[in-house]
Amino acid sequence: MIRTYKCRAKLSAGGHERLGEIFRLSAELYNAGLESRIDCYKKTGEGRSLYDQYHELAEVRAELPEFASISSVVMRGVLSRLDKAYKRFFEYGGFPRFKSGRRWRTIEINDQAWSMLRREGDKTVLKIKGLPRIVVNSSRELPPNNLLKAIRITRKPLRTEVALSYELPTPEVKPVTNPVGIDMGISKRLTLSDGETVEKREIDRKKLIRLQRSVSRKVKGSSNRRKAVRLLAKEWQRVSDKERDYLHRLTSQLTKMYDFIAVEKLKTKNMLRDKHLARSIQEQTWGSTITLLNEKAESAGVKMVEVDPKGTSQECSACGAAVKKDLSVRVHRCDCGYVADRDINAAINILHRGITIAGGNVTRVVGGILDDKQGNGLARPRTVYEGVNLIT
Ligand SMILES: [Zn+2]
Repeated sequence: MIRTYKCRAKLSAGGHERLGEIFRLSAELYNAGLESRIDCYKKTGEGRSLYDQYHELAEVRAELPEFASISSVVMRGVLSRLDKAYKRFFEYGGFPRFKSGRRWRTIEINDQAWSMLRREGDKTVLKIKGLPRIVVNSSRELPPNNLLKAIRITRKPLRTEVALSYELPTPEVKPVTNPVGIDMGISKRLTLSDGETVEKREIDRKKLIRLQRSVSRKVKGSSNRRKAVRLLAKEWQRVSDKERDYLHRLTSQLTKMYDFIAVEKLKTKNMLRDKHLARSIQEQTWGSTITLLNEKAESAGVKMVEVDPKGTSQECSACGAAVKKDLSVRVHRCDCGYVADRDINAAINILHRGITIAGGNVTRVVGGILDDKQGNGLARPRTVYEGVNLIT
C-alpha cells in the first residue's frame, strides 16, 4: 500500500533560486529528449526507449557540466516523465508538447529516494546532489526511511511542497463488530446509519469574495493588482488548507469509530451536469472525502465498500418496500409502521447494501425499533447482521 505524505518545504532565498535553475534545466532536457525521439522516428521510423534515452543522458552529462552537477536520478525523473507522456499518447492520443522552463514546477525522484531523506537533530532534510538543502515539515510522523519509494518536489504559487510516497505494509482487515452506512446528503454533510450526523461545515468565504472584488477593481498589469492577486491566492490557500485539515480529522475519526464503512458510489461526472447540484457537491468536496476515507480505512484495516446509490432514499430500510417521496419530504414514513429521518433511512439502506456486497446477510425485523434517539419518533429499524465478520 502506497501512502503519500504531503509536507511543507523550507528553503533559503538562494535555494529557491537554485530550484528555479533546476526547473529550467529539466525543461531543457525534456525538450531535447522529445526532439531526439521525433528525430529518431523521422529517420528510422522507430521509437526510442527510456533506456536509450538514459544512454543519451549519460552523453549529455559528459559534455555539459551544468547537467552533470545534478543527481542523475533527478534527470532520469525528467526522462521518465517524457516516457509517460509518450505512453499516454499511444493510449489516449495527444502528442507530448515542448515545455517552457518558466512553467516547469516539479522534480520527481523514483530511485533511491530512501537515501535522500535525512534526520538532522529534530529536522528532516532532503539532501540531493545539485539541489539546495530542503527542510521538510510534516504534520504527521513519517514512516521509516527505508520504506520511502518516491519524492516529488512541487513549486506552488505561494510555497514549495514535498510529497513523500512510502510503501507501507497493508494491515489485516479487522473483524466487523460495528458497521456503518454513510449518506452524503445535500442539507447535511453526512448522515450515519446509527443516527449520528456530521453537520455541513460552512466555509467562511466572505474574505475570499472581498479579495476577489479587490482584484477585479485594480488595473490589469499594475503592481497593485499583483499585490491583490497575491493576497487572494494566500486566502485561497488558507481556506483550502483548513478544509483539507478538517477532512483529515473527520475521516480519521470515522475509521476509528467503525470497522466497516459503506458509502454511495458517486457518479460525480453525471451529477455535475445538474446545475444546482453541482455547487453543493463541489462545496462538500465529496470526491476528496471518499478518497481520503478510502486511504484511512485501508491504513486502519477497516473494510470499505461503495454501493449503488440508486433508490436508497426511496426504499424502506425496515421492510424493503418502495416509498416514493420527492426531495422536499424529509421524513420517511412507511406502511409497515417505520418512521425515520429520510437521510438516516437512506444511510441504513446503504449499510445493508454494503453488507450484502461484502457477503454478509441482512435480516430485517419488520417494524422493529431499536431506539428513539432523537425523541421525536425518528428511529432506526432493528437489523441483524450475519456473516459480516467473515469478510476478508
Ligand atoms: Zn417499511
